[in-house]
Parts: sequence; C-alpha cells; structure tokens
Amino acid sequence: MIAAAGGAMMASPALAQTAAPSPLLPQRGSKGADILGPTNDPRAAEEPFTQAPPATDHGTMPNLKWSFSDSHMRLEEGGWARQTTVRELPISKAMAGVNMRLKAGVVREMHWHKEAEWSYMIKGKARITAVDQDGRTFADDVGEGDLWYFPGGIPHSIQGLSADGVDGCEFLLVFDDGGFSEDSTFLLTDWLAHTPRDILAKNLGVPESALAKIPEKELYIFPGPTPGPLAADKMGGAGQIPKTFSHRMLAQEPIRTKSGRVRITDSTVFPASATIAAALVEVEPGGMRELHWHPNGDEWQYYLSGKGRMTVFGSESKARTFDYQAGDVGYVPYAMGHYIENTGDTTLTFLEMFKSPRYADISLNQWLALTPHPLVQAHTGLDPKQVDALSQTKTPVVPG
Ligand code: MN
Ligand code: MN
Repeated sequence: MIAAAGGAMMASPALAQTAAPSPLLPQRGSKGADILGPTNDPRAAEEPFTQAPPATDHGTMPNLKWSFSDSHMRLEEGGWARQTTVRELPISKAMAGVNMRLKAGVVREMHWHKEAEWSYMIKGKARITAVDQDGRTFADDVGEGDLWYFPGGIPHSIQGLSADGVDGCEFLLVFDDGGFSEDSTFLLTDWLAHTPRDILAKNLGVPESALAKIPEKELYIFPGPTPGPLAADKMGGAGQIPKTFSHRMLAQEPIRTKSGRVRITDSTVFPASATIAAALVEVEPGGMRELHWHPNGDEWQYYLSGKGRMTVFGSESKARTFDYQAGDVGYVPYAMGHYIENTGDTTLTFLEMFKSPRYADISLNQWLALTPHPLVQAHTGLDPKQVDALSQTKTPVVPG
C-alpha cells in the first residue's frame, strides 16, 4: 500500500483506517507489519519511536533509557527510596541515581559512602547537615531547585521539613559511580549494632548500661525529632565548611534562547561540586536541545516534566531513538552525538549530569560555523549562503 499516507487514493473511511499506520504498530511506510501476538499497549504508547524507529536508526546500540517506575521501591516508615544504577541500566557505569521521599520530620539517617553525592530538590524542603575531616560543620535548609553536594566519605544527614503546605520533600541524588547502591551505605546505627558493647562504652566514655537503647539494626529512614530553627542546628566546631555544600540553582540567571532556558552549574559556580557538573534544561513545545556532544564524559539525564525524544549517534552508522517522559532516566555514552526534541505540548524540563568538575559541550552548528566554509560546504552540500548563516555562538535550545 504505497498510498498509506496520501489520502487521495483512499476510497472509504474503512480503507483509510486500515492504511493509516498506528503509532503503536511497528510500521513505517511500506516497512513493518502489525503485531499478531500479545502487546503492552500503554507501554508501547510511551515509546512510539521504539515501536516504529525512524529510517535513520541503524545497528546495535545499548539501551539508554530506564524509568524510575521500573525501579524497586524500598518502603520505610514515612518515606521511600528507589534507585537506577548499573544493575537497572547496564550502560550507566559512570553515575547512578536515587529518587527519595521523606515526609516532614522523617530522617535519612546519619551515614556516609565512598561515592560523592550530588542532589537536586524536586519538591518540598529538607534540612541537611555534614561534618568534615577538620571538624568543620555544615547545616542548611534546601528547597525546590536547590542542590547539595557531599564529597565521598563525608558523613551527612537529611531530614524532611514541613513548609509551604508540603509534607516533607522528594529529591534526586546522583552518585559519581554507576555501581553505587543506596542499600550499601555506611549507616551510623549499623556500625553501632556491629561493634562490641564494651568497645562502644570505652569509646563513648559511658557505662555499658547506657547503651541499652542502641537499635538492634539499621534505621535507614525513620521518623526523627521535630527540627527546630536552622540557627540552632548550626554547630560550631572548627567553623563552617568553607566551600558550602548547598547551591541555589534556580537563582542562577539562565542562558535564554527563543525556545528555552539552560542553567549550568559546575565547580566554577558551585565550588564544592568537584566531581559532578550539571545543566537544567527547559525546552518549549517544538523546540529542541541542539545537536551536540560532550568532550568530557557520559551524560546521566533525569526528566522532570514533559515529553522528549533523543536520537544518539554511536559512530559506525549506529543510531537509536528513545522517547522519554517525566520520571525517566536517559543516558548518553561519552562523545556520542545527540539532540533532545520536545515532542509534547508542555515545557520539557530535564537535568543533565556529568562526572566532571566542568560542564562542556561541542555544538554541531558552532563547529560548522567556525570551520572554513568551503570545507563545510563540500561535506554538507549546503548553499554557501546557508553555511555563512550558521551561528558562531551556541544556541543550546533551537526553535521549532
Ligand atoms: Mn548520602
Ligand atoms: Mn547532552
């Protein structure tokens, strides 16, 4: 049926219905066919370009998508946690993510881990505390759009607060190692429970009888004491941590283009964040994060709102297209070219994270604009005037 998309040759509505390819079916023009076996229609509807990939997709590319909805939920008293690591998304060796919810007063218990922890507050408010190796202290209240960063090995705590009618908070954590597991952190109560009581008594300078209430196993997430004013939780010690562990990302003035906004937060504006660089990207309907790649490592994405589509180019003619929506994780291996197009009718918002002290990207348009134009013309077949019109400055979000 070569007239599938035409309409002029369609004799009746019934025939038109048969000929028009459904977005859920593996059909593109004359290629593909319907599915005779079982289908998961809601799932397929989320990924129209997985069901019927564009003709430009080719070859074997790794899976670059995971939804937190498919991650195991760890339910605890007053909160939950779920993670996306190399175990869920095998390509994501450089970074891992955790999504966590703490109701007001609920504590992610005092702990530490080998990996550095970067975080974006999705909704609500939390109080975070930390102490460094020199006895310097940190405490802050973080709200929507705020970041925090705890270097590897630095002990910290998180507690949900009640503010602006929101019962606690929900946040995204990103760790600078894909093998991270939220179930394998060093917990204060776990350590106490696995240290001989006489040793604990000697160390804390208390009689063994004072240790009767030490929890028998880890608390992890539990309802804690009602937090007082922040000032009361700012401990003295050897002074405040000099490079603050929190950052107001939304207070940064974004790079504005016709169809979007980009905020870039790396160690140049958030000095504590030595191993994670990030960008918060907003793309209006029809707009697109331009074709680019990153010269400094893999990209771990988290979709906050809207719908988007990304094709990743992996050299050797390999390319694969994925559809994403809020709550999904995307991944782009080092140096692979990609774009992200807003395919919905609302603002597409997502975070890009890199295991790097600095944010960096290479723009296709800028590369072409700044290479001798006859050379570019010989590669692209574009008209000389069209090559001359390419912008020498980056447009991170191009219009639709
Ligand atoms: Mn942690
Ligand atoms: Mn990118």
